[in-house]
Order: sequence, then structure tokens, then C-alpha cells
Amino acid sequence: MFVDINELRERHEPLLIVKDFSEEELNIDNSISALQNPAHSEVKVSLWGERVCVEGKLGADLVLTCSRCLKPFARKIQKGFELEYRPDPVVETEGEDFGLSYTDLEVGFYRDDRLDVRAVISEQIVLEIPMKPVCQKACKGLCEQCGADLNEGPCNCQPRSIDPRLEPLLEVKRRMGE
Ligand SMILES: [Zn+2]
Ligand SMILES: [Zn+2]
Repeated sequence: MFVDINELRERHEPLLIVKDFSEEELNIDNSISALQNPAHSEVKVSLWGERVCVEGKLGADLVLTCSRCLKPFARKIQKGFELEYRPDPVVETEGEDFGLSYTDLEVGFYRDDRLDVRAVISEQIVLEIPMKPVCQKACKGLCEQCGADLNEGPCNCQPRSIDPRLEPLLEVKRRMGE
């Protein structure tokens, strides 16, 4: 889904794009998330000289995996965004691609006089995915010994947490008992 910047220049007016993107199209490389249904986007692309301004709205239903209890849970995304893209200053030589990673999220870059709207939407969704998603703040997670879901109640395991300063003493005691 590319917007041709030269065509946009000849239009002399912003381009409105209303499109749903499936999970496959968005190609979000993330094992902790999935899209419940296609993400809906409405995007206005306008040109200011060489700069491309992208204003949009995005709605998506994500399924994330809780990093504590490993259960899937739903997360709704409703967001607006306003981004600016400039021509990519990177020079490509003889097919060699100097892929720089730009950390500046406010300003992006486009190449070859075209803007990939699919990539814009994909990036906006990825920004909403936490590094360690939790189903609820109070999620107790799984027992590290038996794997039971502690949200459903305590398990029968003995807590293993002994004050580490006591460990040498216990070791001495154990040896004396042998
Ligand atoms: Zn959880
Ligand atoms: Zn347990």
C-alpha cells in the first residue's frame, strides 16, 4: 500500500485513505501479540514541499499474551496520530542498502518518492505493544515450582525463598547432620 509522492504533488490536495489491514498484511513480527480482526485505519496524506504529513486514526483489537500468567487477553487500541516524513537522506549505492535505524519517532523517512502506508500503520500498532504485557496489574503469575496459575488460588508448594544470608548456616547444619 504505497502512496506515490509525485502523484500526490500533482493532485494539489490531500489524499484520504480508508483501509483495513489484516494481520498478514501488517506483518507484525511479535510473538506476544495477534490481531483479533483487521485493523481499521483512516489516513490523510498531505504534502508540504518535500515533507509528507500523515494524520490518521487507527482502531485495532489486539490479543496479547500476559508475561506473568501466559494467558491471552484482549487489548483495544483507539488512537490518533500525526507524523511527518521526509525524503530519506541515505544514499543507496550499487544495490547496497545502508539501512539506518532512526530512533526519532516524530519524523520518519520515505524513499523512492513513495510512502508505505501499511508500514506506518504497522509501526503505530507496534508502539502500543508493551515489552512485558500483563493481563491485570495484580496478576500473580505462575508458581515457579509447579506452574500453577496463582490467580486461581494458592498451590501446595513450599515457598523456597530463604534469606540468602542464612544459606551458609543451613549448609553447615546439613553437613553436621550427615
Ligand atoms: Zn496474567
Ligand atoms: Zn506451586
